[in-house]
Amino acid sequence: MEKTLQDIRVNLERLQEDILALGKIGQDESGGIHRMAFTEADMEARTWLRERMSEAGIHSEMDGAANVLGRLDGGEGPSILIGSHLDSVPNAGKLDGTLGVLIGLECLRRIKEEGIETRLPIEVIGFSDEEGRFGGLLGSQALTGELNPEKILQSRDLTGISLTEAMAKHGLDSMNALTARRDPQTIAAFLEVHIEQGPVLDQEGLSIGVVEDITGLFKWSVRLTGVANHAGTTPMSMRRDPLMGLAEFAGEIPRILEEHGSGAGRATIGKVDLVPGVANTIPGEVIFSLDVRDIVAEKLEELHDAFRRVLSTLARRRSLMFEFDILSRVEPAPCAAPIVTAIEETVKTLKFPYLRMPSGAAHDAQIMSNIAPIGMIFVPSKGGRSHSPAEWTAWKDIEDGANVALQTLLTLANYTPSQIAHS
Ligand SMILES: [Zn+2]
Repeated sequence: MEKTLQDIRVNLERLQEDILALGKIGQDESGGIHRMAFTEADMEARTWLRERMSEAGIHSEMDGAANVLGRLDGGEGPSILIGSHLDSVPNAGKLDGTLGVLIGLECLRRIKEEGIETRLPIEVIGFSDEEGRFGGLLGSQALTGELNPEKILQSRDLTGISLTEAMAKHGLDSMNALTARRDPQTIAAFLEVHIEQGPVLDQEGLSIGVVEDITGLFKWSVRLTGVANHAGTTPMSMRRDPLMGLAEFAGEIPRILEEHGSGAGRATIGKVDLVPGVANTIPGEVIFSLDVRDIVAEKLEELHDAFRRVLSTLARRRSLMFEFDILSRVEPAPCAAPIVTAIEETVKTLKFPYLRMPSGAAHDAQIMSNIAPIGMIFVPSKGGRSHSPAEWTAWKDIEDGANVALQTLLTLANYTPSQIAHS
């Protein structure tokens, strides 16, 4: 029987070697990976990736934002892009970001080895600074044209090193990131494979997550101001204690989400600072973070208003001052229906157990959705662990995810661009 397109599979052994080899770049003695954007290790990873591409006969280049791109010859018109990010958080595991890049590479190699000609060109991409040494999602924002000179010049890491300095150390001009912008007409779709980074697939024993939406979020820094005073001499009824205000607010969170969220809403207070922060003094000020996420844009907006209303009401009642700064805001991104369908059909054909699910974390795909239809494929994270050396996915699940990506890629690359956008 002749081999058909549907019979093409990835080479797991080669993919395993790649994952383990790239996992050594930036690894410390205890096993944690430190490949933060524009460090030596991060640059070495780019070189390593380009070498693998060149070995495979895939033309590679680095754009102005230091995104690494590989392209298969053949096909005309806009490309199907597959990939993820090469950088890591400090003390990371081996899979966040890199799995999506390496699966993309393996897919291109298999398509080339089989001599398959697709209607549309296919490209693999390893994005720069997704994890946020300099703010995050830098490479994808460069590609979609969301950077500007001010943003580039203002970007600094936590130690005060500027993006411009960090790039210059490797002979790169940060302003060239502006040249990485792609004409949306050159991209037909973006596909990203990523670890789930949560416990759902692992706990349910499923090998694939077909992502329907990527969550949007807003982050605030909130300040409640009262009056610092003596813990012993100030009667309870005469206090203006901002921590009591925060406690009341925290208790309201489940109700606010239930009343104003989509059902997939989440809110987290992850950081609290008390001023002056002394055991026998009523705090005069509490400064805390608020991270709120939802997959429906209108619900996120509603949550924004509801949280502000509740905080301002309780501040008034408790004679506190209430201020907040919006630190970031990212709109939710729905995955494109034709791509979700293509992924789901592939998973059904391959008979893998799967779930349609939202993504609770931000990804490059979210940014790419501003200029192209996107799709995301999740594989399980053991124990839901991520951003840690304990981050892992079973090889069988990695193989399944890679084969879903390969078959989906072949499907999409044989569509017309209008089929992906609208069908
Ligand atoms: Zn990631």
